[in-house]
Amino acid sequence: MKELVIIGQGPAGISAALYAVRGGASVTVVAKDGGALAKADKIQNYYGFADGVSAKALVANGIAQAKNLGVKFVEDEVCGVEFGADGFEVKTTGRTIAAGAIVIACGTSRNVPPIRNIGKFEGRGVSYCAICDGFFFRGKKVAVVGNGRYAESEYGVLKNIIEDVTILTDGLAPQFSLPCDTRKIESFEGGESIEEVVFADGSREKFDGIFIACGSAGAFELSKKLGLETDGNKIVADDKRATNIPGIFAAGDCIPGLQQIAKAVYDGMVAGTEALKFLKAAQ
Ligand SMILES: Cc1cc2nc3c(=O)[nH]c(=O)nc-3n(C[C@H](O)[C@H](O)[C@H](O)COP(=O)(O)OP(=O)(O)OC[C@H]3O[C@@H](n4cnc5c(N)ncnc54)[C@H](O)[C@@H]3O)c2cc1C
Repeated sequence: MKELVIIGQGPAGISAALYAVRGGASVTVVAKDGGALAKADKIQNYYGFADGVSAKALVANGIAQAKNLGVKFVEDEVCGVEFGADGFEVKTTGRTIAAGAIVIACGTSRNVPPIRNIGKFEGRGVSYCAICDGFFFRGKKVAVVGNGRYAESEYGVLKNIIEDVTILTDGLAPQFSLPCDTRKIESFEGGESIEEVVFADGSREKFDGIFIACGSAGAFELSKKLGLETDGNKIVADDKRATNIPGIFAAGDCIPGLQQIAKAVYDGMVAGTEALKFLKAAQ
């Protein structure tokens, strides 16, 4: 059976891993940190803990439980997901992992910087996916907005097809050694489509396209890369937690519904079970 790759080691990702591995799947979980629970303290409203439970302990116990069952863990940031020979390829900052099916359990986030007019120019020069839209800007001048490894990765994708690419860190210190422009951004300006970036110091610079890559790629950015159906910043998934692309499932805070552990665990159970069925059927 091909590999099931789960992005995220929060309650949704670990629950998916537990159900899939116990059903016989080979499972790799890729995650960059502890997710939402790393920001929480004591959890009082989850089943079975009379005096509450430490959020960090809940995450650590889930990971240990999955490891005991043979789930493999990769601590890395996922920068992209593409279609590949085995079905899909999950691209991290350091490696490519082949997957026959994927469960996206990235939690909730949409890393949109508070730049004036950013929404106005989405799809009109402002993009959230270098691999999807870079092609349309060949021979033009573009910028990547971001200061982390995700921005560095999107820059690398664009540099393969576009000569004039600048990284704008929007006033933040870069976490990479590439040349970049650290001016704080005030607004995007233009007519039908974006024409220039206005900086907080009053300076302006013309660009044909802007690729937003702030923080790390979340469910929203990954879904854009794959062409997944979204509703706001949520991935649309059916009652089997299947997305509009066969073999890609989604669970937890990245799909609609209550943003609670119990719901994430349920979503993960369904997604892991359905991903296993998908992989078995594809054998
Ligand atoms: C402060 C706080 C308190 C809370 N208190 C409660 C509570 O008391 N009770 C309750 O039920 N719920 C509570 N919640 C909500 C609960 O934490 C979430 O609903 C739950 O964690 C969602 O699980 P998830 O697996 O969908 O996402 P998360 O737990 O957020 O996990 C997301 C995972 O995706 C990974 N990830 C994301 N992007 C990438 C990437 N590009 N590459 C690699 N990995 C990536 C992260 O590293 C993480 O492992 C609280 C949340 C917060 C923030």
